[in-house]
Amino acid sequence: MAKRRLTKRQQARIAQNQESKGPAVIDTEIESSLQAEQAGFVVAHFGTQVLVQSTGNSNVQQRAYMRANTPALVVGDKVLWQAGLDIGVVNNRLPRRNMLERPDHRGKPRAVAANIEKLFVVIAPEPPAYYNFIDRYLVACEYHNMQPVLVLNKIDIEGDTLDASREILQLYRDIGYECLEVSSTTGQGLDELRQAISGHQIMLAGQSGVGKSSLTNELIPDANTAVGALSHVAPSGRHTTTASHWYAVGDGGLIDSPGIREFSLNHMSQNDILAGFMECQALLEHCKFRDCSHQNTKGCAIIAAAEAGIIPEPRLRSLYVLLNECDQSL
Ligand code: ZN
Repeated sequence: MAKRRLTKRQQARIAQNQESKGPAVIDTEIESSLQAEQAGFVVAHFGTQVLVQSTGNSNVQQRAYMRANTPALVVGDKVLWQAGLDIGVVNNRLPRRNMLERPDHRGKPRAVAANIEKLFVVIAPEPPAYYNFIDRYLVACEYHNMQPVLVLNKIDIEGDTLDASREILQLYRDIGYECLEVSSTTGQGLDELRQAISGHQIMLAGQSGVGKSSLTNELIPDANTAVGALSHVAPSGRHTTTASHWYAVGDGGLIDSPGIREFSLNHMSQNDILAGFMECQALLEHCKFRDCSHQNTKGCAIIAAAEAGIIPEPRLRSLYVLLNECDQSL
């Protein structure tokens, strides 16, 4: 359906809608072609249109207008929609599990993806990983209801840097976090990575240089081709590229969104930060004082656990950095 050619009239209407950026005109011709309502999700966003895939049938993918009262959509959103002859219509957005934002060029937060079930935090021997950097992502995962998976990439780079990053990974594995080792160069570990994605909607995160793009290319070899084809469908040259895009990986999905690199913590409370430290959770109720700062308060169970070696030292340091960074008034 996505490959069907558009009539001149439809092309003109789409172009007009894209330029005006106003609500789409769903005329009687489109309305009369619509099939029964079904569940789907947003694969890409083109301004006044979205590309929707049917939840039950991966062969059904079609561009669709949003009805005037439909809430704003982002890639990953689950929707109720109706397929049509040439173009479908989204009737409603289903409740979101979560929604990720990034600042636009004016610094205003902009929604980029929704319903991420797992966040794969990619690290590498080079550039080296830091506990604090990883812990930020783990806090964000807990806050946004995403299951974290730590992925050590570039395990083909042997030497001290690999040993050091394996040590970091082992520390998280011991705490109970899911950890994987892969190499997008040799293909090692990629099957396990695909298995971890299976049945889930995921996203890759990590600092630049850790090899997110090469991993993405391995997981979805036809990604570039797919984007090219999609840009081609939209008739006007502008607004055709989409910042985020959903790709199938087996029976799971990967949302590629180049914008999300860091998650801000400044709207989070101390409890939000602590929730990202799995090994601290059970200890909190044992602190002597209810308003324990966990940093120098007497009778603090976290400090006691750190002294006993139950909380790894780098994690405690990281916890303090994040606690001092978050909004303490919350
Ligand atoms: Zn405490």
